Amino acid sequence: MQSRRKDFPILTSATHGGRELVYLDNAATTQKPEAVVNRICYGYYNVNANIHRGVHFLSREATEAHEEARATVQRFVNARRASEIIFTRGTTEAINLVASSFSEECMSAGDEVILSAMEHHSNIVPWQIQATRKGIVIKVIPVTASGELDMDAYRSLFTERTRLVSITHVSNVLGTVNPAREIVEYAHSRNVPVLLDGAQAVAHLGVDVQELDVDFYAFSAHKIYGPTGVGILYGKEEWLDRIPPYQGGGEMIASVSFEKTVYNELPFKFEAGTPDYIGSTAMAEALRYASGIGIDKMAAHEHTLLEYATEELKRLGNVRIFGEAEHKCSVLSFLLDGIHHYDTGVLLDNMGIAVRTGHHCAQPLMKAMGVEGMVRASFAFYNTQEEVDKLIGGLKRVKEIFKQL
Ligand code: PLP
Repeated sequence: MQSRRKDFPILTSATHGGRELVYLDNAATTQKPEAVVNRICYGYYNVNANIHRGVHFLSREATEAHEEARATVQRFVNARRASEIIFTRGTTEAINLVASSFSEECMSAGDEVILSAMEHHSNIVPWQIQATRKGIVIKVIPVTASGELDMDAYRSLFTERTRLVSITHVSNVLGTVNPAREIVEYAHSRNVPVLLDGAQAVAHLGVDVQELDVDFYAFSAHKIYGPTGVGILYGKEEWLDRIPPYQGGGEMIASVSFEKTVYNELPFKFEAGTPDYIGSTAMAEALRYASGIGIDKMAAHEHTLLEYATEELKRLGNVRIFGEAEHKCSVLSFLLDGIHHYDTGVLLDNMGIAVRTGHHCAQPLMKAMGVEGMVRASFAFYNTQEEVDKLIGGLKRVKEIFKQL
């Protein structure tokens, strides 16, 4: 894996005082390999014309590249059809799309959506907006002390009014890999569809939407070595056909008159306006890059780092680790006793070590854990054991500094 670090020029950049960057904030966004950055430049230099509408050569080439990117995503998540792959701005927009369109068609006041206590704000607030607008009701699965979903509670939350389950596949705070298959199976036994937020899963698990039998699946390119501003909503055709468009505009129509507008077929019905056709091709490049190495190989390396980091962190002592699920990936959240997460983050940053501090866009989970924030180190396949050692060394230094105060 170490040999692939050269694909990421930013990893050799310097931070404060010329210290080499130790980038451990991969759950927030991953770094981009040269191939992905080059694909963006290539697109703008060589294949830039608005897509789907032009008869000219360049427009056709750009359209082909964009649709080929869609097919690449389809293969990556093993969707049945390319038309089940909707390009969005990211996970957040994909979830907002479902929250808006699904609740418009399939929910009325008093109908219920099941979320969990470990959701990112982007899988809470869109539902709260619908709660305000339509009177839908949000039910929440609690999280156990080890950071797993309470599956008995999950089953007990279902009622006659349950219309959708919307849950994260992997927690961005706890690293917990939720039992997606079990969640889907139970929901389907109650005739309820499931949306999985795959933002933290795609780079670490081989996602197969058919095997999961999930109804909707959302993720962002930038969490899997791709560009910012592009993401995916996968939806089963029968659901995408059934729910109404999310936004109106160009591309999403078959015909428009002031009397009657006919919407376009899938996937275009959900893609109003000029899409990020350069971003989509760069995303496809990122997926090819990741597949070329192998998500399983990446995940195995990340797991070794996670286990090593967890052990070393425990050996430090006076530390509280959040999230010790049996099935966990790539994220290590913690607090040093008596030291504010922000102080830890700033001091580590001074040593060139980039970690995340704060509530990680999961304030309800922070409340459930009884804290305001945490420090989070998150690993990608390009991270090394030496970098984990630097993190642990940095944390020792933080503790020493605080002892002297
Ligand atoms: N869901 C989870 C679990 C996340 O970790 C994130 C981002 O950190 C999101 C959703 C939102 O992703 P984006 O900001 O790319 O839309």
